[in-house]
Amino acid sequence: MKKKKNSPYLLFDSQFTFLPHVKTLRDKVRILAAQLGRVTRVDWGLKKKVLRVMYRAICIPIVTYCSSIWVHRIYNSHVLRQLLATQRVFLLAMCRACRTTSTPALQVLNGCIPLDLEIIRTAHRYHIRKGRGITIHGLVVPEESPDQGEDMRIYCKMLRMRTLDLDLMNIWQTRWQHSTKGRVTARFFPKVGFFPRMVSQDPPFELTCFLTGHGPFKAKLNKLGISEDENCLCGDCETSEHLLFDCDVYNYERRELIRKIGISNLMTDSFYENVMFNTKMYQAFKDFAKSVLDRRRSILQDSS
Ligand SMILES: [Zn+2]
Repeated sequence: MKKKKNSPYLLFDSQFTFLPHVKTLRDKVRILAAQLGRVTRVDWGLKKKVLRVMYRAICIPIVTYCSSIWVHRIYNSHVLRQLLATQRVFLLAMCRACRTTSTPALQVLNGCIPLDLEIIRTAHRYHIRKGRGITIHGLVVPEESPDQGEDMRIYCKMLRMRTLDLDLMNIWQTRWQHSTKGRVTARFFPKVGFFPRMVSQDPPFELTCFLTGHGPFKAKLNKLGISEDENCLCGDCETSEHLLFDCDVYNYERRELIRKIGISNLMTDSFYENVMFNTKMYQAFKDFAKSVLDRRRSILQDSS
């Protein structure tokens, strides 16, 4: 397909799919994420905070540039795939998660709304600022009344933007509830959004393995075609939840976890609800995750 460079910032193709534009965005964001990754690697404590700011301040404006023109094409399957790949680059850079973690789970872990919804938001906000009524992908924003005074117009614009944000969050929430991906993460994070009350926005790799179910767990590796079997050291199916609740090999680590948080907090749904918001539970779970994966690694090394 022949590319026409109609604008230095917006690439068209003959069928106006905007696929060349989105591919260029993806490449730009990859380079940006790699450069930022190198800069922030020096101090891991700063990494996520810095990357979150960069994501909002640099990546989103680049990707959503002129989105009011090409927003109607974002659900072309090729365009959508490229957009999600673009966002995934940053999501993986922002959290210490296994690279096999699904994009919906990474979005929830990082508190970042899916990029297609971000593009719809930017396009809608452009029209709201202009006072225009518009429908984009089923989301309706009514036209501004010409009879309003200046104060009322500003108030109505703010109200429309607030309503738009709520509508987009509801769409994200509905998607997450009906998704078949990231179901382990959904037990810890049934609601989508950014949660400033979380004990840590940047859990270590070992803990993220348990928050996503993606890590050195044989059942997951077997499902992905990386491991020949799915058996734990005890012979059962090795999932993150098996190691957390059932596996006899890690009884010592589990007893330590129970000693710190109490048996009632581990054996009910309150564990999933509270563990990321309660400092004592979070710290105990973090220690458990690290000691289990460390011991698992040393047992496997000794036996090989
Ligand atoms: Zn086991």
